[in-house]
Amino acid sequence: MRLHNDLTRTLEPFTPLVPGRVTFYNCGPTVYDRIHIGNARNLVVADTLRRYLRYRGYQVTFVQNFTDVDDKIIRRARELGIGERELADQMIAEYFQDADALGVERADVHPRVTDHIPEIIEHIAALEALGFAYVIPGDGVYYRVTRKPDYGKLSNRNLAELQAGARVEVSAQKEHPMDFALWKFQKEDEIAWDSPWGKGRPGWHIECSVMARRYLGDTLDIHAGGEDLIFPHHENEIAQSEPVTGRPLARYWIHNGMLTIGGEKMSKSEGNFWYLRDVLQRYSGEVVRFYLLSAHYRKPLEWSDELVAAARSGLERLHNAVHNLRHLARSAERTEASDQERDLLADLTARFRQRFQEAMDDDLNTALAQSVLFELAAECNRRIGPGASRALAEGALELFRELGGVLGILGSALVEEESLDAEIERLIALRQAARKARNFAEADRIRDQLRAMGIILEDTPTGVRWRRA
Ligand SMILES: [Zn+2]
Repeated sequence: MRLHNDLTRTLEPFTPLVPGRVTFYNCGPTVYDRIHIGNARNLVVADTLRRYLRYRGYQVTFVQNFTDVDDKIIRRARELGIGERELADQMIAEYFQDADALGVERADVHPRVTDHIPEIIEHIAALEALGFAYVIPGDGVYYRVTRKPDYGKLSNRNLAELQAGARVEVSAQKEHPMDFALWKFQKEDEIAWDSPWGKGRPGWHIECSVMARRYLGDTLDIHAGGEDLIFPHHENEIAQSEPVTGRPLARYWIHNGMLTIGGEKMSKSEGNFWYLRDVLQRYSGEVVRFYLLSAHYRKPLEWSDELVAAARSGLERLHNAVHNLRHLARSAERTEASDQERDLLADLTARFRQRFQEAMDDDLNTALAQSVLFELAAECNRRIGPGASRALAEGALELFRELGGVLGILGSALVEEESLDAEIERLIALRQAARKARNFAEADRIRDQLRAMGIILEDTPTGVRWRRA
């Protein structure tokens, strides 16, 4: 597999530090509000990369943080007249509801900043001991960027350029305009913790350095996030981590491109954005996910109703192919595959699996992987029809389950129907038992119940067969 590494700005073969294992950190949301569709793109891309790595046989440990203390949380909690922790708890619950709708799996760990204050203080103290931090009285503890000669290596800038482009400074006492807060001293009655430098709270960037190390070790295989985090957030994570550990923070830096609306970068501060929850009123989470994966993850992606509706039609084609196969599997006269069918299935599986993997191996080209699924659907529609054996239809379904599962789609078509099928089988067995016991009233009642579910029963020499009306 090859991944574009934003640190080296090249496409590199992916090889984890420890063979067979991948450590993966994705920067999660600040929980002061519900997530928007820009956040959703990052979640879906990271989840798909995680699924694909697992599919390729890696044991993946995935960590995604919640930023549960910052200016916006403090402000919002005040507006609502509740505590910061309470607001964060509510928004984390909302986050999981949204992530579940997208088919985004839970991380192995979802650490929260406020649960890691002692480790954060320890890390800042280590930076201070090494000469990387200094105190501005009445303000906070700051990181000294001039102490790190390669500062800017991820965002490909140097300090001179950064200084020239610096905006008017908030704190004139900073040694360099790019120095940033590791610890912010308490203002008025803001939420605060004790520290060796005075009561306060962590700056934004330090949490990821500390929590990534705590759960994944000194060097991560993959660090991901939205492109807007490259500078300053990820640059600063590197600056904070590497002096303390003496090792590179991450081996592969992966960033997804931004969403645009009407060609403009989606921006919450400009009001040019959609909450995911509102979008989910109009489209299923599966459609949204499918759309978010319809372009290469590094490219910008335009969000519009027309484009999402087109993705919905595409996804429907895949659902239709799956439904056809399920119908064929259920109504098949033959159980076993013929030799010819066995060859067909082996050919479909080998060919489409290979093409799908080639697409995903090429820097997670999900757009191409989707088109491989479209072709698989067309070929199944063309080559697997009435008269096919159950084994052939089920083999083709298995291929959709395998490849669709990597993209996090088709689960509803495959699984919900399956549990429904199980319920139908259970009712049929009950009806058979009732007939055996000569309880015909009960047998008729169950048949009517099945009919109301749109299920038609047929008695055959080999037993009862059913189909959907
Ligand atoms: Zn982060």
